[in-house]
This record gives sequence, C-alpha cells and structure tokens, in this order.
Amino acid sequence: MKAKSKFDKFYKYVYIKIVCYYAIDMLLRIKKFKYKGEPNTMDCIFCKIANKSIPSNLLYEDEKMAIFKDLNPEAPIHLLAIPKKHISSLAEITEENSDVISHIFAKISELKSFLEIENDFRIVCNCGENSGQTVMHLHFHILSGRKLKWPPG
Ligand code: 5GP
Ligand code: ZN
Repeated sequence: MKAKSKFDKFYKYVYIKIVCYYAIDMLLRIKKFKYKGEPNTMDCIFCKIANKSIPSNLLYEDEKMAIFKDLNPEAPIHLLAIPKKHISSLAEITEENSDVISHIFAKISELKSFLEIENDFRIVCNCGENSGQTVMHLHFHILSGRKLKWPPG
C-alpha cells in the first residue's frame, strides 16, 4: 500500500511538471506573438504558397521572392509579387529588411516582357485593413492588360 502511494506521488509529480511545461511554453508563445507582433507564419496563406505547401499559378521564384497569378483577378493580368520571408505589410519595412523590396521591383522590371506587362502596368500595395489589405503577408499587386481608372477608390 505504501509502495503504491509512492508511485502515485511520483506520477502526480511528473504529471504536474508536464502540465507546467506546456502552460509556460504556451504563455511564452502568446507573449511573443502579442508583444513582438511576430506573425504566425503557419497560418499565412502566402507563406504556404511560398513554401509550396499549397499550390499557386507560379510564374517566377527565386530564393527571396515569388510571383504568381491572383486567384480573383481584377484585370486581364493580375499578378502578386511577394517576399518569401514573412513580412506582414509595408508598415514593417525597415533598413534591415528593405533589400527585398528593391529586389522585387528590379525583377518585375527585368521580367516585364515575360509577365506580358511591358511598360504598361500598375503596382498596388494595400497596407492595413482600411486600405484593403486582406492577406497579412506583404504583397504587390501587378495590374495590367486594360485601361486602369484613377484615382483608385
Ligand atoms: P489584398 O486585398 O490583401 O491587397 O490582396 C490579397 C489578394 O490575394 C487578393 O487580390 C486575393 O484575390 C488574393 N488571394 C487571396 N488568397 C489567395 C490564394 O490562395 N491564392 C492566390 N493566388 N491569390 C489569393
Ligand atoms: Zn506569410
């Protein structure tokens, strides 16, 4: 009887330790997400497109960026250019991570014939919910193939 109670205490001790470990781990994750604004890239649709865990109509990719067709095109040509590394929006651009922006723009210009946009296109970047950003992974819309209205709404 005494031996059994010792075992019970041991298992109780192990059980409490495991519960505490997971509770602390979860609290640390919530704190990191909430205060540092770090994205949950596991849930990000464009991260999934970038790492090919979901399919897309990919036109170009390299180690830093990808260009693919928009699922719901607003123009005859409607592409999205994204950095592969998760950046939530243009508001998160800093001196440290801004090199990917020049890379994306240089590539769009270099590939303009292949992308069939030539010298007639518009780049749109919605930043924040009020501007119309629905996917919180930085992306540049490349619109072409029709006369585009100005100003945008
Ligand atoms: P936003 O409104 O954030 O500026 O633009 C998001 C764009 O992503 C929209 O034009 C929308 O059609 C497109 N989009 C959303 N989900 C997907 C997807 O799973 N695949 C592709 N190719 N485009 C998507
Ligand atoms: Zn992402």
